[in-house]
Amino acid sequence: MLDPAGAIVPTRCACCGRAASLSRAERRRDDAKTLIVPYCGACHDHASAAQTRVLALSLAGLLCAIGTAAALPLLWDWVTAPVYLLSVLFAAALPAAVGPLLRTGPGAHPHAPGRAAWWTRGGGLTCTNRAWATELAHANRAPIEPCYVRERLWSPWMLSATVMGVVAAPFWLSYQRAELRVLNLTESRLVLSADGHPLAVIEPSSAESPAAGVDVRIPAGRRTLEVRTQDGRMVQRTSAFVQAGRQHLYAPASPTFCFWLETTDYARQAASQVEPLVDEDRFWLLPTDLDTWFAPNPPAASPGVRSTGGVLVALRQGRCADAPVSSRLPSLSPKRE
Ligand SMILES: [Zn+2]
Ligand SMILES: [Zn+2]
Repeated sequence: MLDPAGAIVPTRCACCGRAASLSRAERRRDDAKTLIVPYCGACHDHASAAQTRVLALSLAGLLCAIGTAAALPLLWDWVTAPVYLLSVLFAAALPAAVGPLLRTGPGAHPHAPGRAAWWTRGGGLTCTNRAWATELAHANRAPIEPCYVRERLWSPWMLSATVMGVVAAPFWLSYQRAELRVLNLTESRLVLSADGHPLAVIEPSSAESPAAGVDVRIPAGRRTLEVRTQDGRMVQRTSAFVQAGRQHLYAPASPTFCFWLETTDYARQAASQVEPLVDEDRFWLLPTDLDTWFAPNPPAASPGVRSTGGVLVALRQGRCADAPVSSRLPSLSPKRE
């Protein structure tokens, strides 16, 4: 077997056999020994391009994945999760799939598509130019044998973009689909739809409860929310702006109910501030620091309070007649129906 240390290497280009002006170091994986392979300028280009190509195809896959993942939920509001994931997967894998079909290297004999000499797994040196290989073997008294071999012009790294895209895409879709809690404070069961897409059937619930209502995910942007009874009678239609990554509350047809935020500052003897939620359409963008849904803040002595930094915010609900004075709405007009 050829020993790279102190090997006598022909001075001609290992690919085309012309005068060499450049070289590439080929490292043997088994013992980390390196052989300097001479190339002419043109052959050095196509030998080096093989690695650049792997990098370029990996990057192209990553860009396709990021572009598709970012743009699709914005261009197609109601894209379903399976279609979205398949699209990202397809876009990410496209460059890696098409890349090997494209022509590599100069193509014409005696040029190799990539490198002209490289180490194979068994520790032997593979050469594409027979005359160059024979000269190398004779000069170093190494055995030589003909074989049929092709340089592998793809790498598992090309699939890294596919994997990254498919792992990251669900998080982005989840961010674009904002959270919406819908309360049904009427007497009958309600059906909610947005832009004509049915979202949920909501059972009535009048008492304040952390589990009240239904949580749905809804695409960010301007949405038309419609609430109907089960027999199809329109209860309320609302045009609402949904913000990505945020929580929202919708309580259609609930003119006798009040909502308010209760902020308790535990550093100041658990002093509470009450801020009413006022909106004619009964649709609210909630603050990002909401701690409790439809329940009072815990008393000052409870164990979890210390770790919160001293301030907790609770979203509260009740009949306006029983609500704190500051949460009463200035004018409670009946909802448009
Ligand atoms: Zn050459
Ligand atoms: Zn060449």
